[in-house]
Amino acid sequence: MKKKAQSLLQELTEAHAVSGYEEEVREIFVNELTGIGELSADKMGGVYCETGSDGPSIMLAGHMDEVGFRVKHITPGGFLKIVAVGGWWTHTLLSQRVEVKTQSGNKVLGVISSVSPHHLSPAERSKVLDIAHLFIDIGASSQADTIQNFGISLGDPIAPAVPFSALGKPDHYLAKAFDNRVGMACVIQSLQELAQTALPNQLTGVGTVQEEVGLRGASVAARKVQPDVAIILEGPPADDSPGFNPAESQGALGAGVQIRIQDPTALMNPRLVALVERVAQENQIPYQITVRDSGGTDAGNIHKENLGIPSVVLGTPARYIHSHNAMINLNDYLAMVQLSTALVKALDQETVDGLTKYL
Ligand SMILES: [Zn+2]
Repeated sequence: MKKKAQSLLQELTEAHAVSGYEEEVREIFVNELTGIGELSADKMGGVYCETGSDGPSIMLAGHMDEVGFRVKHITPGGFLKIVAVGGWWTHTLLSQRVEVKTQSGNKVLGVISSVSPHHLSPAERSKVLDIAHLFIDIGASSQADTIQNFGISLGDPIAPAVPFSALGKPDHYLAKAFDNRVGMACVIQSLQELAQTALPNQLTGVGTVQEEVGLRGASVAARKVQPDVAIILEGPPADDSPGFNPAESQGALGAGVQIRIQDPTALMNPRLVALVERVAQENQIPYQITVRDSGGTDAGNIHKENLGIPSVVLGTPARYIHSHNAMINLNDYLAMVQLSTALVKALDQETVDGLTKYL
C-alpha cells in the first residue's frame, strides 16, 4: 500500500486541476477505479464510483480541485495579469514558477513577477503586495505573441509548477496541492483496498469540484448520492512549525490522522465521532482530535443536505498548504487510509440507524 501511495500522490499532486478545471484529477480517479465499481459523473464535473450492495449508503468524498489563478488580462507587452482562485497570501508567490493551461491543453511555463531589490524603496520593501499588482512573465514579447504563439486566452487556469519530491527524512514529501490530493488518493486507495471485502453497506467514492471557491460541488454530490453517512477526506493545515504553541498542537506531522470534530462550517455528529475514535483505538491507528476556529471543508455543505447527513472529516495534516510547497509525513496519510477503510467496514445498518435516532 505504501509504494502505491507514493506513486499515486506523485501523479495526483503533479496534476493541473484548479477549481472548475478538475479534468486531470478526474481522469486519474476514473483510471484507478475502472473495474472497482460503477462510475458516473454529475453535471458540474464531480465523479462517483459506487460499490457494495445492500445496506446504508456511505459516501467517501474528497475534493479534486486546488487553489490557483486564471488569466484576467494580457498586457500590450504580453504579460499576464491574474485573478486568484481560492485563498493565497502574496508573500508566498513572488518569483514562483507556474503553468498556464491553454484551451488546447498545452502547459505554458511562466514566472510570477517580482521586483529586484535594487528598484525598491524601504517603504515598498516592507509591504505585502496585492495579487492585483502581480503579473506572470512567460517570455512573450507582445499581446499578439501571447495569444497567437503561446495560445493563451482570457480565463485560462494557472497552477503552481512543482515536482513531487522526497525529503531527506524518511516518509516526508514536498509537493503542491496536498490539499487535497491526499484526500483524493485516500478515496481511491480506500476503494481499492475494500474491493475484495463484503461490505455491510453501499459505498460511493466521490471526487467533488470547486471546494476551494466555496464548497460548491459538495452540495451537488450530496444530493446525487443521498448518503446516510459522509466521510470527508482532506489535507488540512498542520500547526507544528515555529509560531504555533506546541502544547496546543492538533495537526502535527507524524502524530497520526486528524479527526476534525468542529470548524466554522460544520459540527460533526457526536455519535459518529465517538464511533470513529473507537474504531481508531480498536485498530491501533494513531489519531489527533482537531477542533478548529477557522477554515472549513466540504462537510460544511454536505452535512446540511438530505434532511441532515451525519458527517466527519479525516485529515492528513500538511504544512504550508495554499502555497507552492506543502509537506506531509506519509505515515499520517497511511493512517487515514487505514481509518477510512476500517470505518466503512463498521458502518452497518444498525450502527448507522443509531447515529440519528433522536426519538
Ligand atoms: Zn484548501
